[in-house]
Order: sequence, then C-alpha cells, then structure tokens
Amino acid sequence: MTVFSSLPLSPAVLANLQQLGYLEMTPIQAASLPVALAGKDLIAQAQTGSGKTAAFALAMLAKLNPRWFAVQALVLCPTRELADQVTGEIRRLARAEENIKVVTLCGGVALRGQRASLEHGAHVVVGTPGRVMDHLARGYLTLEGLNTLVLDEADRMLDMGFFDDIATVARQCPANRQTLLFSATYPEGIEKLARQFMHEPQRVEVASSKSEGQIAQRFFEVTRSNRLQAVGQLLRHFRPVSTLAFCNTKQQCKDLVTLLQTEGFHALALFGELEQRERDLVLAQFANRSCSVLVATDVASRGLDIDQLEAVINVDTTPDPEVHVHRIGRTGRAGASGLALTLASLQDMGSVGKIEQYQKQPSTWYPLDQLAPTSNAPLLPPMVTLQILGGRKEKIRPGDVLGALTSTEGGVAYTREQIGKIQVTEFCTFVAVTRDVAEAACAKLNNGKVKGKSVRARTLP
Ligand code: AMP
Repeated sequence: MTVFSSLPLSPAVLANLQQLGYLEMTPIQAASLPVALAGKDLIAQAQTGSGKTAAFALAMLAKLNPRWFAVQALVLCPTRELADQVTGEIRRLARAEENIKVVTLCGGVALRGQRASLEHGAHVVVGTPGRVMDHLARGYLTLEGLNTLVLDEADRMLDMGFFDDIATVARQCPANRQTLLFSATYPEGIEKLARQFMHEPQRVEVASSKSEGQIAQRFFEVTRSNRLQAVGQLLRHFRPVSTLAFCNTKQQCKDLVTLLQTEGFHALALFGELEQRERDLVLAQFANRSCSVLVATDVASRGLDIDQLEAVINVDTTPDPEVHVHRIGRTGRAGASGLALTLASLQDMGSVGKIEQYQKQPSTWYPLDQLAPTSNAPLLPPMVTLQILGGRKEKIRPGDVLGALTSTEGGVAYTREQIGKIQVTEFCTFVAVTRDVAEAACAKLNNGKVKGKSVRARTLP
C-alpha cells in the first residue's frame, strides 16, 4: 500500500498531506513509516530528494503532545542548510496540528536569540551537533522530555567528524526514546552508532537506485605489456572525476600509481600495509574529490564508501565473479550513471567467462586503439585538499574551519560552494576547497585564526 491513509495517521494530518500534494508515499516513506509509527528504532538508507524528511517527521509528530511544553523531538543534521530545509518541511507537515513550535539551532547565529526561542517553549529542535551541544552545556536546552531522536544524513555527520558530539548529545536523551537514523551510505561508524545508541533497530532499504542497468560495463583486451598504459588511455578518453582502479596485487598498485603520476594524473595508492595516518591522508583526498584516481587492492578498499564515483577500472580481472560485482557496484550510486571498465588479457578469459555466467550477461568488448583523448587539457581533480595541523586533540570542529574560511576578516570570504568536505582526524584536519582558490584559502587560514588560535595549513600536492 502506498497511500498515506493506510497508516495510523489522524484525519487532520491526512488532509494536510493531501493539501501539500503528497498523494502517495515515496518508497522510503512506505518502507519506514510503518516501522517508525510503531515506535521502533530504525536505520533507513535514503538520499536527499527521496522524501526522507517526511518519513521521520510524520512519525515524530504523531507522538508529539502540543499541550506539553517540552522538547519532545530532536533532529541532528550535518549542516545549517539541511537543518533549515528540515525545519521547513517539519513546519509544513505540522500545520495539521495546533501550534507546534520548531526551533533551529545552528552555528553562525547568536546564541542569545536561540536561547530566547527555547525559553518560549519548543516542541521540536532541529540543529547541528556542535551548536546543540553548546545549548546543552549552558543549560539552555534540556532533553528530559525527549521521545524521538533523529540522526539525519548520519554518514555526512560522521564524515565531518561529529561522532563524539552525537554521542554526547545521545547520552543526554532518555533511554526509552525512539531513535531514527537516516543515511545515504553505510560507513563503518554507522554500525558503531547503532550499537551504542539504538535499541534493536530495524533496517529498511528501498530497492536502491543503484540498479545494475545504470552501470555501463565495457571490456577491453590488453596484453601483459600494455595493461598499465591502457589505464591512462581510459582516463584521457572518459575523463571521470573520480575513479577507483583495482589491482590484484600490492606491487601492481605501486607500479600503476608511479606510471599514472609520471603521466600527470593525480593518483594515489591504497594497499594493506599503509599506516593509519597515511591511509587517512589518502582516503581524505579521494573522498573530497582532490585526487582523480585511487588505485587499490580489494582488501584495502574494504569499508571504503564513496558516494560519487564516476568510474571503476578493473586493471586486473578478478578470478572471483562476486568480487567483480562488488567492485563495479561502487559506481553508479544514487541515481548517477557509472562506468565499469575491465581490462582482460587472453589469460583472463576464464575469469571473464565466470563473470558472464554469474551476471547472466555476455561481456561487450571495445577496441582500445580507438580510445582517443577527448580533451587537450590535463585531467585535474576539481578540489584541492588543505591540511591543517591540529584536529580532535585541539578540539577543532568542522564548523570552526568553515567559520574561518567564510569569515569576512582578513580578505576574501569564501562561499559554502567553494568549500567541500571537512574532515577532522585526531591530529589534523582536512578541508577541500575548489582548485581556483586553493592557494589563497590556504594563506587565509595561515594568516587568520581557527577557534581563536593561529594554525598552520598547507595544500596537499
Ligand atoms: P526530502 O528527501 O525529504 O528532502 O524531500 C524531497 C522533496 O519531496 C521535498 O520537497 C518534499 O516536500 C517532497 N515530498 C516528500 N514526500 C512526498 C510525497 N509523498 N509526495 C510528494 N512529494 C513529497
């Protein structure tokens, strides 16, 4: 059933949905709402645009008592933009009821006004983890009456280094609350959140937009001597922004990265024996789109979760067809189309046959020699990573870095669009900025202050 009237919602809520033009549930709503309305904890895999906000907001509002002035629901979001959007959607959905007050708590705005809004009585709070913590610490906000905790875009919050902040907030919520977690991807940290802060969560996943039809598979015949050169040829022809290239051995990874770097590509290798610090450095650069090609072995790429990956190249064909499907499934996510390119020599034909059988589809072959470069410009990643010396140990938060770059003090104020992922690790912080402003943004960080202190920053090559 995909009609809202199949759910235990009040006539007023149903009438309001009708007025909003929400005639049918979206797939994520149809999968989540019965579980969430039954009061169970939920982990839902959903992207922006899927209708996920209404999926948690309707469940949260159904339990809310408008005549009781206490914060009964809290939604944590990674960014102010998302918090504003979520607030808007909750207000639209809450119109059905009398006077439900929703307050947004994000950084970049004076605490005083937010405190006053809280004092006037709020039923629902939507905010970013850092600012919500500030209010809790000052005693402006209490969560004793909380029924529902929502973690929205949990993967992005983890990406931004908010794990500890989320944990601090969750510990201040009553134990018998309901927790709803929404995330587009499942990096390792999600499990950890679920284990620590959720009670027998039910998982829902809608038939994802990652259907295999959206992955264009192409096979190319190579020989032992031209296999590695073929990778550069593919890159110059297809020009994917981010490519994950799989090799079967560590040595092959090293050889390929050396060759690609000589050819002018921004390529990095990920293999088993890297130290955690080196691994963080490589992953941060690839995930924030300042490295074009990540060359990895299957084992090293475990747990790697990148949402925008234009291409996967199987530099070596894998003899295990399940591994093949897993490799290529990393591209073509979230409705985007993906390219899966496989290089195979005559010796690999046995493996290719197994892959065809497993996928129940014949491979389509294309001639390598017809792959001409499609541009004269070098393939450059759109972003550059700035590394700031100082991380969680120095209590740096993503918002501090964002604040330093967007402030009008000390020259140009950068816009949110020029700033990419911000990742805080134990000892350092990575922030991606668009290539055109990289040097200037780095100088701004070096000359200005982050969290009231001078910092040292450098651009990563
Ligand atoms: P979201 O994924 O929550 O950002 O929602 C994406 C957009 O879809 C928002 O503009 C919602 O107002 C809209 N929306 C959510 N649920 C429905 C629905 N069942 N029918 C039509 N539109 C919807």
